[in-house]
Amino acid sequence: MTKIKKVLVIGAGISGLAAAKNLNDSGYDVTILEAKDRIGGRLYTDRSLGVPLEVGANWIHDNNPKTNPIMKIKEELGLKSHQCSLAGSVAYFEVLDKEGNKIEISNNDLEKIEFRIGIFAYLAKYLRPSTNLSELFTFVKKLGLLSFVKEEALFVLIQKIALEQAEDPEKISIEALFEHEGFENDEAIIGGYDQIAYYFEKELHNKIILNSPIEHINYEQDTIKVFCDNEIYEANAVIVTASLGVLKKEVIKFTPELPIEKKQSIKKLGWGTLNKVMLKFAHKFWSDTDFIVIANKESNFHAWINEEPVCKEPVIVATIAGKNAKKLENKTDEEVVLTALNELKAVYGSKVSELDSYYISKWSLEPYIYGSYSTNKAGENSQLLRKQLSTPVNSKLFFAGEATSVKVAGYLQMALQSGVREAENIKKLYPN
Ligand SMILES: Cc1cc2nc3c(=O)[nH]c(=O)nc-3n(C[C@H](O)[C@H](O)[C@H](O)COP(=O)(O)OP(=O)(O)OC[C@H]3O[C@@H](n4cnc5c(N)ncnc54)[C@H](O)[C@@H]3O)c2cc1C
Repeated sequence: MTKIKKVLVIGAGISGLAAAKNLNDSGYDVTILEAKDRIGGRLYTDRSLGVPLEVGANWIHDNNPKTNPIMKIKEELGLKSHQCSLAGSVAYFEVLDKEGNKIEISNNDLEKIEFRIGIFAYLAKYLRPSTNLSELFTFVKKLGLLSFVKEEALFVLIQKIALEQAEDPEKISIEALFEHEGFENDEAIIGGYDQIAYYFEKELHNKIILNSPIEHINYEQDTIKVFCDNEIYEANAVIVTASLGVLKKEVIKFTPELPIEKKQSIKKLGWGTLNKVMLKFAHKFWSDTDFIVIANKESNFHAWINEEPVCKEPVIVATIAGKNAKKLENKTDEEVVLTALNELKAVYGSKVSELDSYYISKWSLEPYIYGSYSTNKAGENSQLLRKQLSTPVNSKLFFAGEATSVKVAGYLQMALQSGVREAENIKKLYPN
């Protein structure tokens, strides 16, 4: 059996860190090459407003410590958290009309909508799998099966899915409706989600080389050559964890070219954008619920996140997904803040307090990321495409990262598990 001398991991996001830790723990010589000047990738906490705020991943989705490895790390580190539920109970949501009047929506109503939509989603899955979410909702509505609920209840449901998928309903496959089955509640880490990334860094700190953007990987020979500025690194196996956005942009050149199935999966997989406009005010003027939805079809934003229970300061975060998220990136910060302030003023009037500071994410422009996370694109078989993306090439070029997680993708725990999966693959192929 061939002995492996060196493994290189491209990227110090959670998947790269988890892969490197696993191999390092088993005695393999492993180095991470990271383009940015920090670790974490899309797990990124900003502290420029004086409090930790999540620019990327916000919550531990599905807080079951038995199945979610992020929860295990959280518990090992003794981190405090705030519990909520994005996918579950309506109790975590406040729905306001465009004048700021509260609209009561019951869990019962939401469950009934989900049940009726669910039946047709199951049928469509077999009869017309290319159906998108927008078509499905319109169809069920036209049948008169949703006339028993307030229009706003439907609006809340669509906003929640768009937020979870970082995409517009007409581009989302019906598969997205089945992803959260069995998921438990969500948790936001107090003090910064990036503490999870630093958990890995402790053991790997002398094995991570920052500011190392990889431009080219040549895997023609037994020894793989990895090119970065003027440096050439050599290894027997390479794990690429760069985001789907980086792969779509062809930031890294491969010699020989990647197999056709791999290139197809990169091209066809859905890739969404979710941005956040974080606003810190002089004092809080909104309610204590975790999420606020302004039921106004003209609104630029999906849901507002009340960050106060997590960061203990009057911070509210406007979320924006899909094409509007990309449009926002072409506007100046002042224009974006003004839009958000105007929407808040329409609802809260003179209660809106003085704006202290703000932070705006622009994920599709973010170097070495170029988007937010992979989505279930309508008209595509995402599970098959993700399987193709995750398949190693010539038993030496391995692929990890959230988009390679076959059953469900997008989340932090899936990214972590994909890193472990490829580390285990390498260990099986090349026992130490
Ligand atoms: C706005 C937003 C909200 C989110 N919310 C949640 C949430 O609430 N809960 C949740 O579970 N998940 C959430 N996610 C998703 C989660 O953040 C990702 O699934 C996860 O962080 C992906 O990790 P990764 O290791 O696959 O990729 P990344 O984090 O993208 O790591 C890849 C690394 O590779 C580096 N890299 C790229 N190209 C090169 C190159 N050429 N050379 C060297 N290095 C390179 C990058 O700089 C990066 O550090 C969110 C993401 C975003 C953007």
